[in-house]
Amino acid sequence: MFQVGEAGREKVPMSMSEGNMLQQQMKRRKRVNRIKKAVISLVAIWMSVLTFLCVGLYMKVNELESHIDEIAKSLPQAEQVQNTETKNQPKAEEGGSVKNDVEDTEEQPDAKDEAKSIAQAEPQVGNVTVNDQSDNLADATETQKVYLTFDDGPSENTAKILDILKKYNIKATFFVIGKTDEVSKAMYQRIVAEGHTLGMHSWSHKYSVLYDSLDAFEQDYEQIHDYLYEITGVDCKYYRFPGGSSNRVSNCDMSQFINCLNEKGVTYFDWNVSSGDATSQAYTVDELIQNVMKDVLKYKTSVVLMHDSTVKPTTVEALAPLIEKLQASGATILPIDGNTTPVQHVVISAQ
Ligand code: ZN
Repeated sequence: MFQVGEAGREKVPMSMSEGNMLQQQMKRRKRVNRIKKAVISLVAIWMSVLTFLCVGLYMKVNELESHIDEIAKSLPQAEQVQNTETKNQPKAEEGGSVKNDVEDTEEQPDAKDEAKSIAQAEPQVGNVTVNDQSDNLADATETQKVYLTFDDGPSENTAKILDILKKYNIKATFFVIGKTDEVSKAMYQRIVAEGHTLGMHSWSHKYSVLYDSLDAFEQDYEQIHDYLYEITGVDCKYYRFPGGSSNRVSNCDMSQFINCLNEKGVTYFDWNVSSGDATSQAYTVDELIQNVMKDVLKYKTSVVLMHDSTVKPTTVEALAPLIEKLQASGATILPIDGNTTPVQHVVISAQ
């Protein structure tokens, strides 16, 4: 059998076995194609599975992160309070002990802040010195002045605190943080309208952000200052550092932040009497009152640390009986103003 080849070519004989070989080759090619398709499909499926796994993992990580945040928020301030109470306490002189509870609430702590504060093993005083309060000890000739201060508001308890203060015709000082909801805005305005002093307590109340650098601090300061001015028309002149001026959670020397406030004509106030409502220990109403009363009469000027926080209802319960006790002791309760002697844990040393 002969087949005619293309023009100019010789006639090529084709046997049966060659035909079979051709068929086999075609079959093999088909088989190879099928395998190729199968491999490509497998790779595609595998990549889809990997993508799916990655998305799943990403979602899981996000979920865990928010879970960690929630846990950090609900953590009692045990470590942080312990840290500051043991390491930050300005040297207590006879009769001049300075309470230095870290005052934090539900808004503040993120895990990083806590970790940072715990990592701060050595006191970092820089060029600031501890104020021992020795020139503020009470004597019989002067009426004692007591300044009630509430940190961390506005909160769900602000209105209750304001109602109690109104009932007793007492003016206090609120060191507030930045909150943008309508109820909070109304609370800033009510604090001012009812004659209390509006002070700043940072916008974020996040140590890791606030105390990261002078720029960060100043930016946070401008944010809370300008916001309060916009909402209330008050050009705030008083500031309380989250954790106090003697805190050890700040990586930076606090003196630069103190200088920054000084340059703006802003006075910072710490406290020399603490109700104890910042600690992890759940004080009863009576204990909160005792905590204040045992120290408040030591000083000519007492600045009392309390908190305006949704998670501190005991402070609200203690307020009316505390006011009554203070009034019975003959002390005068006042809001912080330009005449108030500043109570400051640390002051900048002479250069
Ligand atoms: Zn605070």
